[in-house]
Amino acid sequence: MVHRGYYGEFGGSFIPEVLFSSIEELADVFGQAREDPGFRAEYENILSTYSCRPTPLTFAENLTRYFGSARIYIKREDLNHTGAHKLNNVMGQGLLAKRMRKPRVIAETGAGQHGVATATMAARFGLQCTIYMGMVDMARQRPNVFWMERLGAEVVPVRDGTRLLKDAINEALRDWITNMDTTHYVLGTACGPHPFPEMVAWFQSIIGREAREQIMKYEGRLPTRVYACVGGGSNALGIFNAFFNDPVALVGVEAGGQGLYTGKHAARLSSRDGAVGVAHGYKGCFLQDRDGQMKQTHSVAAGLDYVGVSPVLASLKCKGRVRFEAATDEEVLKAFSLVVRKEGLVPALESAHAFAQAFKELPDLCGHDIILINQSGRGDKDIFTIADAFGDPGWQAFIKERAAEYDA
Ligand SMILES: *Cc1c(COP(=O)(O)O)cnc(C)c1O
Repeated sequence: MVHRGYYGEFGGSFIPEVLFSSIEELADVFGQAREDPGFRAEYENILSTYSCRPTPLTFAENLTRYFGSARIYIKREDLNHTGAHKLNNVMGQGLLAKRMRKPRVIAETGAGQHGVATATMAARFGLQCTIYMGMVDMARQRPNVFWMERLGAEVVPVRDGTRLLKDAINEALRDWITNMDTTHYVLGTACGPHPFPEMVAWFQSIIGREAREQIMKYEGRLPTRVYACVGGGSNALGIFNAFFNDPVALVGVEAGGQGLYTGKHAARLSSRDGAVGVAHGYKGCFLQDRDGQMKQTHSVAAGLDYVGVSPVLASLKCKGRVRFEAATDEEVLKAFSLVVRKEGLVPALESAHAFAQAFKELPDLCGHDIILINQSGRGDKDIFTIADAFGDPGWQAFIKERAAEYDA
């Protein structure tokens, strides 16, 4: 069991014995579904009729002119239903839950986006739904909590630990152990025990397949570099996947937070603070102290604020196939403003990390180069954080009040 699902030295399946049969069942059902053309057709059909696939590839004409360097293309995952790439994964897992005849789904969520996507899928497929969310994240992402509840999900506040995503993951795992006969755990990113990393990456690979076809149609050649932000790693693997065998540079951008030297970041692969360890069901690279305790992470983007990262990406770093960089909160907010003003696009703060790193590197490139940036989601959900960052005192008071509500 533990030997399956390894990517180099990373991955595996480190779970309590009681979960073995559930994980085994999931791996089998996914294995069969992946080979079944009927399943693939059903999956693609629901994404094109219910979400917005294929999502467009937008030529960023104004940014291209502004930088006077490479031609800039943006893959528009923000146009998916519920506003991010998350739905690609969640609808796929929903179809698998139905195949396994499980009437209930649970999920953990950080930014709230995965919770909203899961609650949406559950409503559509008629499944019961429970979402675990850290209390700090609940305060930061109030609108997402509101919508999950309207969609019929039960949102359980997690008061343990740092009250962030990693604490919500522990709670969700506890629930799964208790209710595994009736419940499928919809993991939100390419992490966790096998088969989750492979399965989530497979569902997200639709992003790269489309993007590759689109850029070949528009430009007749491949991009020089592809940029994606890296939280758990699912949108990055989704777009990178189509270019692994091509001479295309792949750049994963992590949360540099307040700076790599402050310790307040979530740069697991791009800083020296990440170390190999086992947590949340897999062997990977985690931000931890010398005793192996998980560190606090920091990012202006809740969706990148996670101590671990996909074992698939950790392995691709070791192989030298993907380069990892970090963008600081400040760089990200600047890049965000530039994208809004120049293109009228509103990227999520997570996605703005990919833009920030691309903008830093544009001076190294020339007019013959093409870059592709994955806009993983839209920024509407970040309204409070952005207003706060740009120093609007009215909003600051509003946010403090909301946070106090959840602490009560
Ligand atoms: C959740 C989220 C991310 C981070 O998750 P990955 O698995 O790394 O893709 C990035 N962007 C947006 C918009 C998100 O909602």
